[in-house]
Amino acid sequence: MRVKLRHRNIHIPAISDEVLPQLLVRLKVYDDIVNGKMKCRICGRTLTLDTIGAIGMLNGELILVCDKLSCISKASILFSESKTSG
Ligand SMILES: [Zn+2]
Repeated sequence: MRVKLRHRNIHIPAISDEVLPQLLVRLKVYDDIVNGKMKCRICGRTLTLDTIGAIGMLNGELILVCDKLSCISKASILFSESKTSG
């Protein structure tokens, strides 16, 4: 299940299952995810291709969170805070 989330400052796109692996390859984290090395930035749960809820950049660092609604909403706050100074 994909969660769509909209925020005034940030738009976390709903990522289709087809596009996601390509995106992860481009971000150079695909191998880490399939090897179970990436964790949700919020709750620490190990991410898989099925449990990635949101992807974003924070201060130039790639942030991945799982598909829990609480994690996605916290991530959106995190990402939006990083933009308030701009
Ligand atoms: Zn999480």
